[in-house]
Amino acid sequence: MNEFFDTVFAPSTAIGGAIAIIRVSGEQTRAIADAILDKTVTDRPNRMRHVRILRSGETVDDCMAVFFARPNSYTGEDMLELHCHGGMQTVRNVLSVLSEAGGVPAAAGEFTKRAFLNGKMDLSEAEAVMDVINAQAESSLRSALEQLSGSVSRRISAVQERLLDARAAIEAAIDYPDEAGESAYASLPATLDETAAALHTMIEEGRKARVLRDGLKLVILGRPNVGKSSLLNALLGEDRAIVTAAAGTTRDVLDERLSIGGVPVRLVDTAGVREASDEAERIGVDRAKQAMESADVILLVLDGSMPKTPEDETLLSQTAGRTRIVIANKCDLGSCIDDTLPLSCRTGQGVDTLKERIAALAQPSLQSTAAITNERHIRALEAAYDSILHAETQTDPDCIATDLSEALHCLGTITGTDVDAELVDRIFANFCVGK
Ligand code: GDP
Repeated sequence: MNEFFDTVFAPSTAIGGAIAIIRVSGEQTRAIADAILDKTVTDRPNRMRHVRILRSGETVDDCMAVFFARPNSYTGEDMLELHCHGGMQTVRNVLSVLSEAGGVPAAAGEFTKRAFLNGKMDLSEAEAVMDVINAQAESSLRSALEQLSGSVSRRISAVQERLLDARAAIEAAIDYPDEAGESAYASLPATLDETAAALHTMIEEGRKARVLRDGLKLVILGRPNVGKSSLLNALLGEDRAIVTAAAGTTRDVLDERLSIGGVPVRLVDTAGVREASDEAERIGVDRAKQAMESADVILLVLDGSMPKTPEDETLLSQTAGRTRIVIANKCDLGSCIDDTLPLSCRTGQGVDTLKERIAALAQPSLQSTAAITNERHIRALEAAYDSILHAETQTDPDCIATDLSEALHCLGTITGTDVDAELVDRIFANFCVGK
């Protein structure tokens, strides 16, 4: 158990709700609870009690309070939760009562950081807490909850165990070359191959599943006036982009986030891809080309009411190798293009089918909710992978042992068994106050 000097407090709910939950954690929690409440709650942990918060005998708030005795609390320390009235002034008053009683305001992420340092959760689980809070679509939430339940830690520790066995065998071979040497070396190449393959799979899966966190990036392409802005609006269900009958009016690249069939999607509407006639439009066209490069899925819009133009043909061949959906818009005016998804932004026909197709394209990455998606974790996996590949090129047992130690260190930074205080501080600084 880590001993923290301060007993900290912070509101854990957003300002402005009907109820504000204020949390207190640390050594002095019992003393503070006994000092500020009209009844004792510390003798009956985990039970809510109706109490009054007092300051020099006067009622500051009439609220509910619950005490959690260490180590059975979120942080692993003694904790008090006050469920107060949610008004700004009430919260301010309660915070100042806590301050007068000896508490200090908690830093960002302080409760979760204490939970990690007290061994209540490992680092990957602590980081998942943030992802759960920030999840903007059902699929991201499922992935974060999975990680919160220790899925990352379990996969990492399976690899760690193999590497530890391999390193122990090599060390035995170094120390007692005659006895252990042969057998340790016989199994080493296979062990290294298997671990490298396991890490590689995790990295690949993670990269794909990052879609869950960052959103599937959709780019809308098409020559001017085919209805790209109208399509963006149809998908968003509101008039966000400017739609006019003059060609080349969408000057900028708009970036919108939405959830389609439970999949987080980033929608980018681009300036018409064609030679730009003025400076502002040229910048828009350049950005459109960049957006197209980084897209996961391209929505190529054609005007279905007329035959394909040479510009359409160029866009079709430029996007041929990419994941794309070709849409024939304006089908309310009659359709003359085959092998496309007929759609009308005007009547809404085909919009639901388009949404279903988009959601279906994201399905492969949705399947593995246990994938490791955090960028920091993926970088650590890559570093571990590199160390193992390096070990495979070595013949000297000492060098191999060093590479394996390095790989183990990298994996330890994911779960937090091998991190320095500075990294821990940096990670929790991204949390919100009260978490
Ligand atoms: P963009 O330049 O590709 O972004 O095209 P816009 O979305 O600005 O649309 C160009 C013109 O086509 C506007 O006058 C729209 O009202 C019209 N338009 C867009 N979609 C449809 C559609 O499905 N049917 C019909 N009839 N007109 C459409």
